[in-house]
Amino acid sequence: MSECNVTTCIAMAKQYLHSSETAQLDGEILLTDILQKDRAFIYANPNHRLSDANFQRFISGLAARACGEPIAYITGHKAFWTIDLAVSRAVLIPRPETELLVEQSLKFFANNEGAIRVLELGVGSGAIACSLASEKPAWQILAVDACPAALKIATQNAQTLQLDIQFLQSDWFSAIPEGATFDLIVSNPPYVSATDEHLKSLNFEPKNALVSGADGLTALKKIIVTTPNYLSAGGWLLFEHGYQQGEAVRRLMHQAGYTAVSTFCDLNGKERATRGQR
Ligand code: GLN
Repeated sequence: MSECNVTTCIAMAKQYLHSSETAQLDGEILLTDILQKDRAFIYANPNHRLSDANFQRFISGLAARACGEPIAYITGHKAFWTIDLAVSRAVLIPRPETELLVEQSLKFFANNEGAIRVLELGVGSGAIACSLASEKPAWQILAVDACPAALKIATQNAQTLQLDIQFLQSDWFSAIPEGATFDLIVSNPPYVSATDEHLKSLNFEPKNALVSGADGLTALKKIIVTTPNYLSAGGWLLFEHGYQQGEAVRRLMHQAGYTAVSTFCDLNGKERATRGQR
């Protein structure tokens, strides 16, 4: 047993992470993760002492957090929708705003109990595909990513959650069989501009999952232009984008001939996702 208990560990988190607003929360998340307990346990057991090994893990976690590593990479998982996903530095950490894509996808087919064919482009951790599969076991979901390390994490998540998803290594549409069509194509592609100031704060996340050309629109353009070849009649394209890209993507969608084009706002009231129908 180490000399340190829950209270002293939280005090250490506040001391070492003093510049971070989330110091106490970070300390609590590290502790719940290491002790495999919930936050209620932490509050109810301030004198619970950590084993030497667990205290060492706590200290290394704090050190990583002090260097700016996101807490989800330190604990190796992140909650999204109703599921918990393993994450590594090979994938973007799932964001709460991306749940908008899940919510809207489900709405498109709310009155359709059939076996919808879905393609997710750039699956990353598997957050969107796994959430959809967990809600709609009958949907036939194909999820692709160009990055083998991301596919490995996504496959592992689907296995852990016992979800039936097909995975394929593909650089956007490159490996999708010709003639294949889908009722829904969904994507959270990279959309940050290469010169965006806020990339500095995203240092630990894979650049290829974040950055897409000088205007951040390279991947989105490709997806918007190519998707009609792979959509069934009446099929939907739905994607996430930057909060200042709404107007540009709506214009691209109209140019490419989509109908029913509209944009959805995230919980902060910012334009965050756009859809269109073939
Ligand atoms: N929403 C992320 C961010 O700006 C970017 C995600 C993405 O590029 N798909 O932090």
